[in-house]
Amino acid sequence: MTEPKRIEPLAYVARCPLCDEPLRLCGPESVTPTSCTSCSYLEPQGSAHAITYISRCVHEMVRIRGIQKAICMGNELDSSTIPYPHGLFPVISDFANERMITAGLVREPLFRNVKDAKGLLGRRTVFTSSPRPAEICIATYAQLQSIDAGISISLAMECPKGTINIDLMQSAPGNSPALHASDRFSRTLRQAAAQLQPNTGP
Ligand SMILES: [Zn+2]
Repeated sequence: MTEPKRIEPLAYVARCPLCDEPLRLCGPESVTPTSCTSCSYLEPQGSAHAITYISRCVHEMVRIRGIQKAICMGNELDSSTIPYPHGLFPVISDFANERMITAGLVREPLFRNVKDAKGLLGRRTVFTSSPRPAEICIATYAQLQSIDAGISISLAMECPKGTINIDLMQSAPGNSPALHASDRFSRTLRQAAAQLQPNTGP
C-alpha cells in the first residue's frame, strides 16, 4: 500500500502574517498550535495544511470554469489572485462562512481572516480552530460553492463571461441575484450535509 501523500503548505502560509518570519508549522496530528519563530503569533495546528489544500481546489475550480478576471473594489485583477489565502480568498471565506452557518452545517465560522501586512486586502484566511477531516470537507465544498455562486451573481449582473465580480459577493443581502444564488447554495449545502450525516459521530 502506498503512503498517503502529505500536503506541503504553500510557501506564503509558511510565513508569519504579522512579521513575515518563518512559522513553526504543526500539522493536524499535533497537539501544539503553529507558532511564529519570532513573534507571539499563533495559528491552529493543521490550518496551513488545510488552507493549502482548499486553495489548490479553488485554483482548479477557477481554471475549469474558465475564470480569467476578478473585479475587486472596481479594479480588474487577474483570476490568479482568487485562490491565494492572502489574495481575494478572504472575501470568499466570509461568503462561505455565512452560508455554512445559514445552512446549519456549523455553529461557528470555520474560517477566520487575520491581519496580513502583505495581503492584497490586508487579510489572510486561516482556520478558526484545528480542522477535523469532516470540517475540511465541508469548508472545501463551501468554498467551491461560493465561487460557483459568485459566477452566477456576476453573470446575472451582466458581467463579461470569464469574470467574477467579488464586489457583488459583498453586497447587501437584499441584492436579489446574490440572494437567489445564496438560496441555491444553502440548498446544495443541506443536501451535502444530509449525505455526510450517517458517518458523523455524536
Ligand atoms: Zn511573527
